[in-house]
Amino acid sequence: MNFKPLSLYNTASKSKQEFQSLTPGIVKMYCCGPTVYNYAHIGNLRTYIFEDFLRRALEYAGYTVQHAVNITDVGHLTSDADTGEDKLEKGAKREGKSVWDIAALYTEEFMRDWERLNLLDPTVWPKATDHIKEQITLVQTLEGKGFTYKIDDGIYFDTSKFPRYGEFAGLDIENQEAGIRVAMAEGKKNPTDFALWKFSPKDVKRAMEWDSPWGVGFPGWHIECSAMAMKHLGETLDIHCGGADHVRVHHTNEIAQSECATGKPFATFWLHGGWLLESKEEGGGKMSKSKDEFVRLQTLINKHYDPLDYRYFCMTSHYRNYLSFGWSNLKSAKEGLTSLRKKTAPLINQVTSIESDLAHEWRDQFTSAICDDLNLPQALGIVNKMLKDINLMEGEKGALLLDFDQVLGLDLGKSDAPAKESFDTLDRELSSLLQERNEARKSKNFARADEIRDLFKEKGYVIKDGPEGAVLEKIQ
Ligand SMILES: [Zn+2]
Repeated sequence: MNFKPLSLYNTASKSKQEFQSLTPGIVKMYCCGPTVYNYAHIGNLRTYIFEDFLRRALEYAGYTVQHAVNITDVGHLTSDADTGEDKLEKGAKREGKSVWDIAALYTEEFMRDWERLNLLDPTVWPKATDHIKEQITLVQTLEGKGFTYKIDDGIYFDTSKFPRYGEFAGLDIENQEAGIRVAMAEGKKNPTDFALWKFSPKDVKRAMEWDSPWGVGFPGWHIECSAMAMKHLGETLDIHCGGADHVRVHHTNEIAQSECATGKPFATFWLHGGWLLESKEEGGGKMSKSKDEFVRLQTLINKHYDPLDYRYFCMTSHYRNYLSFGWSNLKSAKEGLTSLRKKTAPLINQVTSIESDLAHEWRDQFTSAICDDLNLPQALGIVNKMLKDINLMEGEKGALLLDFDQVLGLDLGKSDAPAKESFDTLDRELSSLLQERNEARKSKNFARADEIRDLFKEKGYVIKDGPEGAVLEKIQ
């Protein structure tokens, strides 16, 4: 099989590069998953949607993807600087449940959102609590190579021993030091050093804690991703993904600890999804869970949106760009998807194979957009233009839609557009045609009326004249 050349923006090189996998035909892809102490907000979900487009694009290009998404079910601390409250314990306190119940509940809720957004299941969903042994082993390797030191509250990674630390994120370490010094944990050698293993506070029995060679405690947040990625996908990944907010700390630390442990590059490509911002109408700012009320998928469903409306909404902006969320923007996306479904429904029942040069041209255009760093907004524009191409056979349009939907994931093949549509719910193109036919009949221009009737038939509709005016019925 020939792989379509795919160009992806690599955060590590800060440029678009042609993608090559380490093993021909196989892509090892690791995506940082949720910390399951609360529902996911729609900003988190935007990242998983972008990663799903990437997974689908890779498969569309001919690769087999080995895909891992971790579940962080051990509480890491609310701040990136290893201080603050344990997120899971905070959730447990809030709801009067055990941390284990909290983790189970929100893992289930997360999986539900995952399914509703039509995201493809990863090959493996590793859980942090199932990989304590692997995390301890990795810390031991780092200890054996001299990259760690012990202070009162845990085992830390010494970032000064990794000269490239900060290069990935373009961090200005010296200036950062001055700013962070105030909040630095006592005994830390460098402000950027991070915990690999934290000790349980003395005389406190934590709900989640484990024995380790250094004492009872729990792993630092960053170490789990390196340990689980290496276990399930190997020491060097093809692609590592996450949200843009992971670049500065989490991914910088993952790179430091992984590369110091193995002496190999941790990932060839690093891809990051842009932030979801609240539009001015919603108050502005980055969508985050630290606000008391946050918008989650169920919030959209409660307002009668389909989860796939949100998926479609995410396609309207390039994944690396900021995307501004507001109810009016989401409404426009819903209208866009509804209109696409209406155009799609009659075509899906008459799918032929893709044969003509014209159909191949449309497919090439779509593929080029997808393979150009997942340009979904452009791909969506191509879909809409293709549907309007009067020279393209209807059967080929249907076939192309099903083909494109392998990447779009909008379930176009399962179109549930209503079988019977009244005049006012039809999209503009059809309704103006119907109006023209009514006028033609009134002026006794039966030739034109018949022509339009045949045109509808081609689009998969039959016209029924009834007491409430002309109604279109979908041909089954
Ligand atoms: Zn991670």
